[in-house]
Amino acid sequence: AEELVINSKKLSIAGQLAAGIAHEIRNPITAIKGFVQFMQSGSLQKQIYFDIISSEIERIEMILSELLILAKPQSVQYERKDIRMLIGQVTTLLGTQAIMNNVQIVTEFELETTHILCDENQLKQVCINFIKNAIEAMPKGGTIVIQLKSKDKENLLLRFIDQGFGIPEHILSRLGEPFYTTKEKGTGLGFMVSKKIIENHQGAIEVFSIENEGTTVEVSLPIAH
Ligand code: ADP
Ligand code: MG
Repeated sequence: AEELVINSKKLSIAGQLAAGIAHEIRNPITAIKGFVQFMQSGSLQKQIYFDIISSEIERIEMILSELLILAKPQSVQYERKDIRMLIGQVTTLLGTQAIMNNVQIVTEFELETTHILCDENQLKQVCINFIKNAIEAMPKGGTIVIQLKSKDKENLLLRFIDQGFGIPEHILSRLGEPFYTTKEKGTGLGFMVSKKIIENHQGAIEVFSIENEGTTVEVSLPIAH
């Protein structure tokens, strides 16, 4: 009976996700359809419609690209990688975005063994998600500290610490729920996808946050000795 319960729970999560995806994609498509009809009716202000249509298409692309990270298990490749190298590449990648937002990214690596068994692209995606969330939480700018420490003999800790507006309790409890976002241009998929990826790597995520002070996202991952 227990197995049955677990199965039906899984199904309902898949069902929930499917309903969410359908809903999230139908909204921009409905908007696009409406504006195309407007344009067919011979209105003159075409430029506005083009802008709305392309931003709605961008939204669909964003949603799909985040979901595709999860939907491609066949391309997952676990290799021994130095996590410092991975973080270095991600911070370089996000450097311009950080500067444009007045954000400084600082790394603190206090670790002897820094190798993990991972799918490089997926793990980079996780880091990108958490750094982007940190940047978006500091509209006036600030510092993001990326910390690497040892947790115990078997695991390391990777922390993303920001000085942003923090996460109130009612949002904290909904983190990881698909499509839950407080941002106008958010997808609400970053956290869910990241959590899933970390769990696939036998790791775990914890979030600590104080409103108006900042948030720490703590990822633990097994060390590859
Ligand atoms: P998105 O970034 O598209 O909104 P996420 O799944 O990445 O989706 O995050 C979900 C929500 O969690 C965000 O909309 C935001 O409210 C909150 N959140 C996540 N990370 C942070 C952070 N570092 N500081 C403040 N709020 C955060
Ligand atoms: Mg995000």
